Amino acid sequence: KKEMRYAVVTGANKGIGFEISRRLAEEESIIVILTARDEKRGLDATSSLNTHLHSSSNDDKIKKVFFHQLDVRDPNSAQALADFIHAQFGKLDILVNNAGASGVVVDEEGLKALNIDPIAWLSGKATNTVQGVIQQTYEKAEECLDTNYYGCKRVTEALLPLLKLSDSGARIINVSSLRSELKRMPNEQTRKELNDISTLTEDKVDGLVQKFLHDLKQGKLEENGWPMMLPAYSVSKTMLNAYTRILAEKYPDMYINCVHPGYVNTDINWHTGTMAVEEGARGPVMLALLPTGGPSGCYFDQTEMAEF
Ligand code: NDP
Repeated sequence: KKEMRYAVVTGANKGIGFEISRRLAEEESIIVILTARDEKRGLDATSSLNTHLHSSSNDDKIKKVFFHQLDVRDPNSAQALADFIHAQFGKLDILVNNAGASGVVVDEEGLKALNIDPIAWLSGKATNTVQGVIQQTYEKAEECLDTNYYGCKRVTEALLPLLKLSDSGARIINVSSLRSELKRMPNEQTRKELNDISTLTEDKVDGLVQKFLHDLKQGKLEENGWPMMLPAYSVSKTMLNAYTRILAEKYPDMYINCVHPGYVNTDINWHTGTMAVEEGARGPVMLALLPTGGPSGCYFDQTEMAEF
């Protein structure tokens, strides 16, 4: 009998995370720990997945999806999840850091009224038309970095002792974004620093995050060469990629990668995305199921390896 593997997905009550959970739970040898910050939303998602799995297979004896609360912004919640997995399963094989926040305040009615072309918006051509409708506040920036970047670190650190116990080399997948790509970072010095993996450290990356927040507060984002379209979101994902590379260097026995899922129709982009969640989950799922000997420390644009 095949040994069971255990997978955690963060922010899995809806959107791409929910779909990743569904796909992983469909694998015969994987048990999913679906996590969400809101207990009710998480439990509802979990029972709907278990119902779906039992109706589509004749084996209804094994429970494939378990729920545990996880707010990635709360260190106690990350530790409680680790304690639960330790007690229930004794190890962890797959961690999908998917939870994310957009980092902006949006006037959704205004957005609808503008009727923007999402492709133009995605390619940056429609920046001016969304000003006033999509706003970067300092409060939202802090929340975004604390979720997308520090949240991923917090959860990964809490779960690392369990990931080290995976016998086949744990898989860690950080759900990033196209916005993370270094070519979108105007400041050349920052770009170089983040791309020199031999000298990159967590402290350096944390320092850049703090510098960004400081510049935002001072109104100096443009002057200091930060991305001007979804600034906090873009920076959070760029730093997430850097963390991915540092971690991959540190743990050569694991498979640690980051991935842009595609432009997917979900709440995070107010449903301007053009792809279905089934398509968006393909890259993260592929990396979660990566065969032994596969890549680590890499960035993928959906299912294709791409440049950071
Ligand atoms: P959704 O808004 O549908 O899902 C985001 C999920 O993250 C929700 O489950 C949300 O929970 C959860 N979340 C937010 N904050 C926290 C927190 N503090 N603790 C735990 N969970 C939290 O968006 P997507 O499915 O599209 O996003 C999934 C990932 O994909 C994100 O990392 C996003 O940045 C990334 N991505 C998405 C793209 C797209 O086009 N959709 C493009 C590029 C990247 P709740 O329901 O409680 O709010």
